[in-house]
Amino acid sequence: MKTLASYVQGRWHIGSGASATLYNPTTEEPLASASSGGIDFRAVLEHARSVGGPALRAMTFGQRAEMLDRLSKAIHAHRDELIEISIQNAGTTRGDAKFDIDGAIGTLAAYARTGAELGAKSFLYDGPGVQLGRTARFWGEHVLVPRLGAAVHVNAFNFPAWNMMEKAACALLAGAPVIEKPGTPTALLAWRIAELVVASGAVPEGGYQFIAGSVGDLLDHMTSQDSLAFTGSSHTAAKLRGHGQLVKHNVRVNLEADSLNAAVLAPDVEAGSDTFNLFVANVALDMAQKTGQKCTAVRRVLVPRERVDELAAEIQAALAAYKVGDPADATTRMGPLASADQLRDVRAGIERLAKSARSVCGGAAPIRDKGYFVAPTLFVAPDARTSVVHTDEVFGPVATILPYAGSAREAVELVGLGGGSLVTSVYSNDVAFLETAALGIGAWSGRVWLGSDKMAEQALAPGMVLPQMIHGGPGRAGGGEELGALRGLAFYLQRVALQGFKGVIAPESFALANSAQTRQGAGAP
Ligand code: NAP
Repeated sequence: MKTLASYVQGRWHIGSGASATLYNPTTEEPLASASSGGIDFRAVLEHARSVGGPALRAMTFGQRAEMLDRLSKAIHAHRDELIEISIQNAGTTRGDAKFDIDGAIGTLAAYARTGAELGAKSFLYDGPGVQLGRTARFWGEHVLVPRLGAAVHVNAFNFPAWNMMEKAACALLAGAPVIEKPGTPTALLAWRIAELVVASGAVPEGGYQFIAGSVGDLLDHMTSQDSLAFTGSSHTAAKLRGHGQLVKHNVRVNLEADSLNAAVLAPDVEAGSDTFNLFVANVALDMAQKTGQKCTAVRRVLVPRERVDELAAEIQAALAAYKVGDPADATTRMGPLASADQLRDVRAGIERLAKSARSVCGGAAPIRDKGYFVAPTLFVAPDARTSVVHTDEVFGPVATILPYAGSAREAVELVGLGGGSLVTSVYSNDVAFLETAALGIGAWSGRVWLGSDKMAEQALAPGMVLPQMIHGGPGRAGGGEELGALRGLAFYLQRVALQGFKGVIAPESFALANSAQTRQGAGAP
């Protein structure tokens, strides 16, 4: 049994008192324990604010970009070891482990490239300047300057590597010191990455702290320059949003919560076409990849009413190729759920769905003697408005087909019943259908992915979150926004309106700029 330590105030701290146990979800054997007992969380925040923040802000974007590049390389150098840890503690197949770990490495590398382009700058101009006076002498500019607080990151269990490093990449590039707290059930991987980050020496002291176990009373000490970025369930998100101290000090909060993502098949898509095959393959992939424990996984599958049986059979056949079993076995394509709690919740969710939908395959019954395994489970709802399908996120390999009449407007309305999603994929070769769906669904979904014959060959799956594009979604999905290249930095920066003599504040003349400042695009980051 390993004991996971926290890295706080420049040293590794072994927690005292009660600890949480981490398991191998394939064998149910205990692997490690984590406790944050004895940590002085007020001091952790202060260390970030007074030691890490000044050191990071003394660096230019270019220097911080080099730091991210070093972190990406330090993690990459241990990729094989990290994959093994993920298989053991998160029950991922090798492919699923790479999805998480390469996501972390790749996002750090992408932000290193973005930051390198900003070079010697220490703040950013936002959009074009404006003339405010009779002549251009009285001028206005918007600039983005670093905030002075700590960036607290509370992460979900399902992406221990990517979730921590995608948040850290944006914050560190913006000059904000981070305090990372992973989801406890799979924290072994995040902890090992924390060791690599610290050992790399890339981040100045106080710029990166790591908490194994609970955040204790940390939130009670956050103040107005601090920020909280959370990923997890909408239940916890609601609690954090209403936290008294955060409300009192208007602490910036970004929430990435759960989501009932949808895939929409338009009536024009012919069986056997590239778009059809992509739809079937992506729905099955989304259900089985990471055993469905993906915030972007499809849960609702909209199919023209008369084609429901055809599509149910196609998706079932595609799912049959996902061999379920020990993730250490190279032939396995779907491992167990990550924890006993997850297994309990997913089984309960399947039972709830089974009360109002017809089962095509899978179910809640145990499929192995040991381990937190569940079968890929597909339902067909008799009525597309069946409420449980639009309100209950079953965070496992579970999806429900919803029959609809086939109009883009109806698809928009049904997607909206989920109350806000991270991603919706729409499959059609009918441009009018795609346009109506994209613009209508846009109000309900942070990302709209449009599948068609023209892009099928090059398409990355809709469940994949890319650093260039924003991630987040309205309503139930948390209302947050992360990534999106420079947009992801805005959360950690203060946008300030400067008004004065153009000769002082315009980019070509600002005396404080270390080098010639160039403008970012309007509204970016
Ligand atoms: P969770 O139970 O809400 O936990 C998320 C994180 O919050 C964990 O680190 C947890 O710590 C911590 N936490 C729980 N209660 C807290 C409290 N009162 N104060 C401070 N921190 C608290 O969610 P999960 O089970 O880890 O993750 C699964 C959920 O995350 C799913 O619903 C999924 O849809 C969602 N998710 C969303 C995204 C996205 O980008 N939108 C991405 C991934 C996952 P402990 O683990 O120590 O309890």
